[in-house]
Amino acid sequence: MRTVYFDHAATTPVDERVFEAMKPYFTEEFGNANSAHQLGNNAKVAVEEAREKVAELIGASPAEIIFTSGGTESDNAVIKGVRAAIGKSDVITSPLEHHAILHSAECEKRRGGKPVYIEPDSKGNITPKQVEEAITDETALVSLMHVNNEIGNINPLREIGAICKEHGVPFHSDAVQSIGKLPVDVEELGLDFLSMSGHKIYGPKGIGVLYVRHGSPWIPWMHGGSQERRRRGGTLNVPGIIGLVKALELATDEVDVNLEHYDKLRKRLLKGLHNRFDGKFVINGNPESSVPHIINLAFTDEQGNGIDGEMLLLNLDMEGICVSNGSACTSGAVEPSHVLQGLGLDPEIANSSIRISMGKSNTIDDIDYFLDKLEAVLNRMMTTTANA
Ligand code: PMP
Repeated sequence: MRTVYFDHAATTPVDERVFEAMKPYFTEEFGNANSAHQLGNNAKVAVEEAREKVAELIGASPAEIIFTSGGTESDNAVIKGVRAAIGKSDVITSPLEHHAILHSAECEKRRGGKPVYIEPDSKGNITPKQVEEAITDETALVSLMHVNNEIGNINPLREIGAICKEHGVPFHSDAVQSIGKLPVDVEELGLDFLSMSGHKIYGPKGIGVLYVRHGSPWIPWMHGGSQERRRRGGTLNVPGIIGLVKALELATDEVDVNLEHYDKLRKRLLKGLHNRFDGKFVINGNPESSVPHIINLAFTDEQGNGIDGEMLLLNLDMEGICVSNGSACTSGAVEPSHVLQGLGLDPEIANSSIRISMGKSNTIDDIDYFLDKLEAVLNRMMTTTANA
């Protein structure tokens, strides 16, 4: 059966060129980057070159780059590490953040922390003014993502960064979904901390980056050996690091071509949706300020009732089409996605939503195939409901 993969915000396949770059570091060049001998040194040289490249690509200096196990670790490290260093209580964030941020901020309550949530509007917009109003003498950190993984919204980081700087408050962004898709320069965006992950950009899983600006208040939380200048203990994942950096380089080099491609796919999808389902779907989030490859849709029947999103996902899966309902990390739960709840959507509409996230290898034909199958599945589901 044909498989159409529309879940690139959950994860991507490793690009062949990335895989090739990683291979020697699993086999011949398997040394521990901390070992004093030649093999160790080869690994260390490769890691340091990789560090320089990441730094260059995000406008940082190499000593500000720490390799981690992924976006989740980087997010945890920032929330917990800044709070521990500063001792102030408030972490300003939003209910639309990834659970790696939300659960870390909630966990900090046990140590006297206080999450302060900025309420987005019904399209998921957060304004710099709201951030400014939330800042107090007790603010330890502002943490707001660059691109939302479920609805694709882009936050105005540059403006928020300027406000944080003016108030002397550290600013973190989870850039897991924006890196390689939008320009990310820590100077331009005014960031003190940034999280990224390998597997959303055609790199390997289990590898990420934490950027920490020089002089920022931050205490490491992962203790062990002297790796990463004693800021993150643990034997370096050399193949992962090589893979992440190769993936980042490719994504940056090919960003224009990729974005143009996603734009074409998105237009085709929207045109098809309007032609076939006008009045029976809504786009969640703010399509005026979003990345082109993520689109979150809620479907309703003739009476305006939300259809069952979980059933829709399963039916599409039976046709070989992979989409998501909410974030992959929480699927399986019957609860509507916390992001859609955070928009204040009616739970019925939230539960009738699916996320489509397109990737490099998707084609116009994939979109047409999806539209055909979607039409058939929705018709079937609506007939079944009507007869029930
Ligand atoms: N932040 C965001 C915005 C994400 O989309 C994800 C992945 N779902 C993560 C953090 C977690 O990254 P990782 O899978 O590398 O731990």
